[in-house]
Amino acid sequence: MSDIKVDPFTIFFDLKNGMSDERKPTRRFLSQMKGMYADDAAFDAAVRENDAIVYDFYELGLPETPGDLLFGTSIVYPGKVGDEYFMTKGHFHTILDTAEVYYCLSGKGYMLMENPEGDWDAQLLTPGEAVYVPKRYAHRSINIGDEKLITFFVFRADAGHDYGTIETKGFRKLIVEKDGKPAIIDNPKWK
Ligand code: MN
Repeated sequence: MSDIKVDPFTIFFDLKNGMSDERKPTRRFLSQMKGMYADDAAFDAAVRENDAIVYDFYELGLPETPGDLLFGTSIVYPGKVGDEYFMTKGHFHTILDTAEVYYCLSGKGYMLMENPEGDWDAQLLTPGEAVYVPKRYAHRSINIGDEKLITFFVFRADAGHDYGTIETKGFRKLIVEKDGKPAIIDNPKWK
């Protein structure tokens, strides 16, 4: 694997809408996130009413080799399940000791993070802000605004994605709307 050579290249990502006309997005619908929101009844009702797009992301088809970088854009749509904002599934990196940078292009949200040692953090994402996700931290983007939350990300190409741990355990914290503004609360489902 490590001898795969990547030639220099250029790729287009729109800095306003995050889209690339050179890549197909991976699209996540609400029905693909069963069990990940705190309010299961609200979730089931929302899926029945309209199985909305929650987020899209554009990834590169590059080899996942040590020393390379992967980058792309992520678009989280506005919406809520009960009082919990639309969010990405979130993941750890399979190689836990690898970090990531997210740069916010538009919209408003939070990057929610936690590590296996029990530390957690939430950093605000607003246009022009770059959030550093340190190694060992699971990370999830959460859209707290009325428009799309669009970020550009870059991470070590061989990091890999571990979605299963979050699907099973959840995050320690949730970000919900309370009295018309975002509030960080304990996740009652956290194991
Ligand atoms: Mn990541």
